[in-house]
Amino acid sequence: MSGYSRRRFLTLGTAALAVGALGNMRPLRAAEPAADSSGAMPKSGGVFQIAPLPYAYDALAPSIDEETMHLHHDKHYAAYAKKLNDALESAPELKSKSIEELLADTASLPKAVRKAIRNNGGGYYNHSLFWRWMTPNGTGKPEGKLASAIDETFGNFDAFKTAFSKEAADIFGSGWAWLILDGAGKLEITTTPNQDSPIMDVAETKGKPLLGLDVWEHAYYLKYKNVRADYIKAWWPLVNWKTASDLYDTARG
Ligand code: MN
Repeated sequence: MSGYSRRRFLTLGTAALAVGALGNMRPLRAAEPAADSSGAMPKSGGVFQIAPLPYAYDALAPSIDEETMHLHHDKHYAAYAKKLNDALESAPELKSKSIEELLADTASLPKAVRKAIRNNGGGYYNHSLFWRWMTPNGTGKPEGKLASAIDETFGNFDAFKTAFSKEAADIFGSGWAWLILDGAGKLEITTTPNQDSPIMDVAETKGKPLLGLDVWEHAYYLKYKNVRADYIKAWWPLVNWKTASDLYDTARG
């Protein structure tokens, strides 16, 4: 990345990132269209960049506290990005690929870096979207064509919420709950273990993520301790339905 070492970049505050230190890099913003294989995930010089939060660290409080957001974004997410980039250093032929391309075909990755890219690339991809799936200005309800598709598929929005919440609560160990658009063009609720993503070739149920909820303990344990269900309940009003809608429209083409 021109002018900035990765190390320096990762230690810059997000405020600095937000005011144009990024050069030609495209920061992820809630208003932007879906991340896709055209490279909407921030990458420069073959190095994946962490996306700044599109709101202040304390903006989601009290539902998600400031300390959790700092740890989650600045430590966990930054570590996934760093370890992904470290893995690519030992397989430089992969540096030209987008994150979507890397994750969609993990089977073809060299064995020496396959696990590192699956875990850390997945963590990088999932979290880059996760920040955009939340907003302090949540409307509480889906909009546009996505709202109609949710009603059509699940009966109504409350039924969808109940089903999604149950899937998220029932995940054993660490993982994610998802609303995806599957290969047949249908909405589906699914889950993945660890940092797997529905765009991965190894995913049990594949599709394009429209909405995702991180239920790793690092996402909620400081405030909610062992009561994951309370975290899930508190998360719904934060959902950025504009992001989900945009992803749906893009996935539908
Ligand atoms: Mn997380």
